[in-house]
Amino acid sequence: MFSGKSEEMIRRLRRAEIAGQRVILFKPRIDDRYDNADVVSHAGVRMSAVPVDGHAEIAARARGHEVVGVDEVQFFDEQVVAAALALADRGVRVICAGLDQDFRRRPFGPMPELLARAEFVDKLQAVCHRCGGPATTTQRLVDGVPAPYSGDTIVVGAAEQYEARCRDCHEPGVDAADAVDAVAA
Ligand code: ZN
Repeated sequence: MFSGKSEEMIRRLRRAEIAGQRVILFKPRIDDRYDNADVVSHAGVRMSAVPVDGHAEIAARARGHEVVGVDEVQFFDEQVVAAALALADRGVRVICAGLDQDFRRRPFGPMPELLARAEFVDKLQAVCHRCGGPATTTQRLVDGVPAPYSGDTIVVGAAEQYEARCRDCHEPGVDAADAVDAVAA
């Protein structure tokens, strides 16, 4: 998050467009933070995108395109990897952008498999919200405090905040039960 991955993907897709290739960009319908039809980076760079409900829709709507982008790919289920591989096997260039870790720093959805199967992987770093160092994790905050570890992995548009944090500044969330145990001890 905040690492510029959407921006980097848009840059690559734009270059393909300039080269005269047929390009299409997908995004999960779940993500309507900014705009229903566009992928918009945190820096404001935008590109029109096709919102899809799942991997089957990607496979169907990618036909006839030479370059396929998938933004926020962590929100798709595991089968998005097979869909991407099937496209790549047909000679399509597939560019996926996603968060590799959820707010607990656990591998996010289909990302581990995708990272393993991809020919090229670039891990981008954000800037830590706390100390300004290179950030590789996402801190979820609810009312300003770390969200509980047991919280849902995917919450879009809720009254929560996300910050890029480095390894040292990332704070694990405490579950209510753990808090009670701590008091009892
Ligand atoms: Zn930090």
